[in-house]
Formats: sequence, structure tokens, C-alpha cells
Amino acid sequence: MKRGKLLLLIAFAATISTTATAQLSAVRKIFSKTRDQRNEIILPKVNGYNIYKADLHLHTIYSDGDVTPSIRVSEAWADGLDIIAITDHMEYRRIERDMFQYMGNYIREDLRGEGKAVNTNVLNTSPDERGLLVDFNVGYNRAKAKADELGLMVIRGVEITRGKLGDYNAIFTTDNNKLYDPNLETTIRNARSQGAFIFHNHPQYRKNTKSTMPEHCEDFYAKGLIDGMELANNRSYYERLFNYCMEGGYTPFANSDAHNLIALRYPDAGKDYFRNMTLILAKNCDEKSIHKALKERRTIAYHANMLIGREDLLADLFRASVSVEIVGETSKVLKVKVTNHSSLPYSLRWEGKREGAVYGLSATVLNVRKGTKELIITPTNMFYGKGKSPKVAFKLN
Ligand SMILES: [Zn+2]
Repeated sequence: MKRGKLLLLIAFAATISTTATAQLSAVRKIFSKTRDQRNEIILPKVNGYNIYKADLHLHTIYSDGDVTPSIRVSEAWADGLDIIAITDHMEYRRIERDMFQYMGNYIREDLRGEGKAVNTNVLNTSPDERGLLVDFNVGYNRAKAKADELGLMVIRGVEITRGKLGDYNAIFTTDNNKLYDPNLETTIRNARSQGAFIFHNHPQYRKNTKSTMPEHCEDFYAKGLIDGMELANNRSYYERLFNYCMEGGYTPFANSDAHNLIALRYPDAGKDYFRNMTLILAKNCDEKSIHKALKERRTIAYHANMLIGREDLLADLFRASVSVEIVGETSKVLKVKVTNHSSLPYSLRWEGKREGAVYGLSATVLNVRKGTKELIITPTNMFYGKGKSPKVAFKLN
């Protein structure tokens, strides 16, 4: 080989090597950068409806939470949610005392009033004549500003918190500053007159050990003031009230009620396990469609891989999530592959006693009696009442 040609070849090889090195370093640079990533939770369309993932009970520094509204939005976006409601307590707020101290020299003497926070804990008493002096719309406004950057929906709301009388979330309010009254029922009615949807928070948490409501709560239900119930809140779920909720025609919810960071509450969430969510079946992700879906009870409460909701919706969600096909056989059984196209895992029971599971975006093979034409599967992590799971039939051919 001539010297010139050899040099050319060496130069060419060096170029390839340089290009490869540059590409490697570029790739490393991309992945070593901290970038916001969203954990998409894949769910099928069901009966023409999209399934939106929501957490409709969240606290921020504007009541007794530890984080700002914009952190709530960032968390929800990263966790794959589509909708949140900031529902700070009206009756219990920690930030004001600190803010007065922090801003003390900033606030003009003549505007400072008494220079201290007032009526910040009126859970079990009424506020004095000075009333509740803060702007209860700030949390929503801050969250909305951040959510608009990310395409997340924020619903305006508050938590009406009355100690022994129970706690209620009002969402789709229009002005949170016009809700409060020392009387609980009047406050709920004020919210309803703004068109709000009311749900009962952690209804079993006041040591209610029965499958019914305490009398004073029952009264609100009887008067038609309650639209829905949390069947799961934080790490608790309220199995004793499944039937009360579903047979009574109330909308089921599962929410986090987070006060601190979601990552601290659900450290293992991400794949095959998620933070509490209320799945909402709606045409669109806008206030009108979502409000209508809640009114029509098109929700499924997700908590620790349990799904609680109407029997028809559960069966339709399961049917839309999985496909079933015969992939082989032995002398005794058919080998039936169940493919789960959704992110949510399902525990399965078939032929009465056989048990198994199919994880999110995975497949499993079931042994099924030979000659079976129709396979009936019970997704045993779905509940339309206490101990009641739907049965879903699949044709085998
Ligand atoms: Zn709460």
C-alpha cells in the first residue's frame, strides 16, 4: 500500500473513532442530566371514555401541609396523574404565624393590625369576631399557574374540617372565600350553592367501627348534601363502608390526603404499585366533563392495587385491559395467555379455585380445563362491594 493511501485510511479510522466517542459522550451527557420524567400510567379507553388519574385531596403550606402548591403539581405530573385538587383546611392553618414573624418588619404598622395570626385553629370552636382573614384562593391560584405549564388540571377546592363532626371536601367551588360559616351544614350548603361537589373524607377515621355512618353524618347524607365518599385515604381503606357507598349511590374516591412529600408517603410507587388515585372515566379532561363524570359515579378508587367502583365499570375496565388467547395445550390443559395492556396489575381467579396474577404491561399463561369455550376470570383485586368482585367472560377459540 502506498504511504498516501495508508495515511488516508488511518485518518478515516480516527474519524470513525472520534465520531463514536463523541456520540458516547453526547448520550452520557443526555442521561446524566437531571431531567423531569413523567411515569406514564397506561389505561385503556372504556366505553368511549378516557380514564383520567386524579388525587382530589391534597394539602399545602396554606393549611397544615409541608410543601407548596407548585410542588404538589410537579409531584402529580411526575407520578402520571392528570388532575389534582388543592384542598387546604379552612379551619386549621399553620403558615400564618410564621409568615407574620417573617414579614413583621415588612408590613406597615398601620396595615399590620394586631401583628399576629388569628383564628388559625378553629376545628372544634368557632372563630372570634375577627373571622378567618386569609385568602383561601391563593393555594389554587399558585397550583394553577404551575399546572398550566405542564398541561395538568387543577380543581379549586377546600377541606371543611370540623373535628368530631367529620371532614368534607368541597371541589369545583368558585370562590373559597365565601364558604366558611361556623355551622358545618351552612358551610356545606354555601359550597353547594357555588355548584360544588361534596365528598366525605376518611369516613371511618373517627373510630367508626360500624358499616353505617354516625348519626350526625347520616343526617347530611339523608339531606342529600353528600355526593361521594373516600373509600381509601392515605394508607387506610374503609372496607366496612364499601356497601354503604356503592349501594347508596355515592361516588367512590381514593386520595392521598398528603401533607408531606408524596415520595415519603409512597416510596415504592412507580411500577406495579402507585399512589392513591381516583380514576375518572370522562370524555375530556375539562371541568365540565370531569364534574359530570363525578355526578354520574364514573370513578374507580385505586388504593394499593385494589380497585373499588361500580360493577359494570370494573368489568369493562378489566375487559378493555386484557386480551386472552390459547397459545398451546397438553394432554390435560389448554395454555391460555392473558396479556395485560394496562399499567395496573390484576390478581386473577378462574375455574373456582385457581389463582394467579398478571402484572402491568405483562403477560401470564393460565392452565385451563380442556374443552373450555368460555373462560370466566374474576379479577380479585376489584371490588364493587365488600367481598364482591366482578366476573368477566372471554371466548376461547
Ligand atoms: Zn385532609
